Amino acid sequence: MKVGILALQGAFREHKKAIENLGHTALEIRLPEHLEGIDGLIIPGGESTTIGKLMVEYSLLEPIRELGQQGKPIMGTCAGAVLLAKNIDGSDQPRLGLMDIAVIRNGFGRQVDSFEEDLEIDALGDQPFKAVFIRAPYITDVSPQVGILSKIDDTRIVLVRQGSFLACAFHPELTDDSRIHQYFFNMIEEIKNKF
Ligand code: GLN
Repeated sequence: MKVGILALQGAFREHKKAIENLGHTALEIRLPEHLEGIDGLIIPGGESTTIGKLMVEYSLLEPIRELGQQGKPIMGTCAGAVLLAKNIDGSDQPRLGLMDIAVIRNGFGRQVDSFEEDLEIDALGDQPFKAVFIRAPYITDVSPQVGILSKIDDTRIVLVRQGSFLACAFHPELTDDSRIHQYFFNMIEEIKNKF
């Protein structure tokens, strides 16, 4: 399959490798016409305010939002998860706002720049997922149509799915464990087969 990776800023190269390692084609998205023919899209981690501004500047915000509304699968990791959220605590920054979730940016505090946590994610099997968090957001609130796939505790949710959208507070592209990417590619397959 052809998976787009928004390549304006942030950790897009690592996602590209993860896509290719699983045998798929990765297409770097910098202009609206690059969106043509992709089966799904990944929005990487980085700085959500910068990526949002660049999406406006390169006329990508509206076309990506429309693609999402049409049912194209989108995964956002870290800053990408922030950009998928309808509600960003205390911020009016540009966003896609496709998911009914509320996030807090840098939710783990400024002192804690980065940390690793073994997460239990039932949807990925028994083995815990070693998740790398870097100035990560977390999800505080979800509407009933959002499925919670993993949380650190009841107030700090870190992986959610809503239909064709997946939001991940950590960086799955920075470890060798490909199960989150594989999960997203399975979503793409599943959704493709519906049409
Ligand atoms: N703190 C960043 C933001 O809110 C996200 C950090 C990251 O993507 N590693 O945009």
